[in-house]
Amino acid sequence: MHEHDSDRSHEIAVVGAGPAGLTAALLLKAQGFDTVLVGPRPGADPRTTALLTGSVNVLGAAGAWDRASAHAAPMRTMRIVDATRRLVRAPEVAFEAGEIGLEAFGFNIENDRLNEALLAAADAAGLEWVAEPVVGVVDAGDRIELETEGGRVRARLAVAADGARSFMREAAGIGVRTWDYPQHAFVTIFGHTGPHHDASTEFHTPSGPFTVVPLEARRSSLVWVEKPENLAWIETLNDGELSREIERRSHRLLGKVTVEKVRGAIPLGGMVARKLAAHRTVLVAEAGHRFPPIGAQGLNLGFRDIAGLVEILVAARRKGDDLGGAATLSAYKRSRKADIESRTLAVDLLNRSLLSEFLPASAARGLGLYAATRVGPLRRFMMREGLTPSLGAPRLSRGLPLG
Ligand SMILES: Cc1cc2nc3c(=O)[nH]c(=O)nc-3n(C[C@H](O)[C@H](O)[C@H](O)COP(=O)(O)OP(=O)(O)OC[C@H]3O[C@@H](n4cnc5c(N)ncnc54)[C@H](O)[C@@H]3O)c2cc1C
Repeated sequence: MHEHDSDRSHEIAVVGAGPAGLTAALLLKAQGFDTVLVGPRPGADPRTTALLTGSVNVLGAAGAWDRASAHAAPMRTMRIVDATRRLVRAPEVAFEAGEIGLEAFGFNIENDRLNEALLAAADAAGLEWVAEPVVGVVDAGDRIELETEGGRVRARLAVAADGARSFMREAAGIGVRTWDYPQHAFVTIFGHTGPHHDASTEFHTPSGPFTVVPLEARRSSLVWVEKPENLAWIETLNDGELSREIERRSHRLLGKVTVEKVRGAIPLGGMVARKLAAHRTVLVAEAGHRFPPIGAQGLNLGFRDIAGLVEILVAARRKGDDLGGAATLSAYKRSRKADIESRTLAVDLLNRSLLSEFLPASAARGLGLYAATRVGPLRRFMMREGLTPSLGAPRLSRGLPLG
C-alpha cells in the first residue's frame, strides 16, 4: 500500500475499510480513478456472508475472488423445512442450483476470510490508504475535506462505506428510517462430523427460522432467530450444551456438532437512509441500508450499490462532469432507488412472514411455498430473483465490462 500525500487532492476518497469499502476502492482504482481509502484496518469480524452470483462477479472485477473462493463453500441446494406446529404447514421445499443452470446459488464465506482476500488484493494493487478513522468533515464547495487524527484528505467525492453507524452519513446530515422485529438472532460457527453436501437448510420454527449454511470443510454457520427471553437461555449454555442443542434442532442432519469460539446475539432490525447522497458524499452498503441476517441480502445489495456507483462515475468522467457534483449524486440516487426499495420491501415481507405467529400470514406463506414446489416457472422466478434482480442490475454485477 502506498503512502498518502496530504497536500494532494484526490478524485475519490472511500471511507471505511470493511468488505464494502475495500471492494469499492479496488474497483475505482482499477477504473483509473485517483482513489484513496481512509479507515482503520478491519478488525476481527464474526459475520459470515452468502455471496450470490452478482457479488462473485463484482469481487472478480476487484481482483479478490480467486483468493476468496479458496475459503468459500458453494451452496448448491437450499432446503426449507417447516418445523412449526401450525395449522397450515408448508411442505418441505428444496431448490437445486442445477435447475436454473447454475453451479451454485452462491458461496458462503467468513467475513474475516473475505477481508483477507480483499487486503491481499489491495496490497497487490498498491492501493493508497490512510489507516485512520475520519473524525471531521468539511464541505469545501468544489471538494470535500476529511479530517483524520493525523491529517486531512481532500477529494471531489467521498464514498461512505463506514458501516451501519456511519459517521459520514451523519456528517452529510442524512437521517435514517429504522424498524425492529421482536426477535433476536444468535449466530455462531460450528464443526460437524457429517458432510453438509453443499446444502443450506432453513428450519422454520414458531419463534423464527433456524438456518445452517455450509462453510469450507466440515463446518457451517448458524443464524438462530429467537425471542429475547429464549435467547437469554441460549446464552447461558456452555459449549457442550450449545453443541447438543444445535444437533437436536438441526434434526442431527450434520452428525455430531462442536461449536467454535465465535458466538454472539444481534437484535433484529432494519435501517434505510432517507437519501443516498448529499454534500459530495454517496452512501454504499450498510452505511445506506441494513437488514436482518435472513435472506442473504445485506452485503449482496451493498455490492450492487458499488457496481452501480462505478458505472455512474465512469459515465460522469466521460461527460466531463464533476464526480461529486449535483448531477452525479442525483444519477446515483436515481439508479439505486428501485433496487433498494424493492429489496427492503421483500426482506421486510419475508421477515414478517417468517417471524409472525399470525395465522393468515403463515397460511399465505404455506400456500406460497406450496405453489412454488408445484409451479415450475414460478419456482424458477423465485430462485432467480433471490439471486440477483434481473431488472436494472449494474453491468459489473452481471459480469459485463464497463463500456
Ligand atoms: C450474522 C450476520 C449474517 C449475515 N449474513 C449475510 C449474508 O448471508 N449475505 C449478505 O449479503 N449479508 C449478510 N450480512 C450482512 C453483512 O455482513 C454486512 O452487510 C456487511 O458485512 C457490511 O459491510 P460494510 O463494509 O458495509 O460494513 P462494515 O463491515 O461494518 O465495515 C465498516 C468499516 O467502516 C469503518 N469505519 C467506521 N467508522 C469509520 C470512520 N469514522 N472512519 C473510517 N472508517 C470507519 C469500520 O472500522 C469498518 O471497517 C450478515 C450480517 C450478520 C450480522
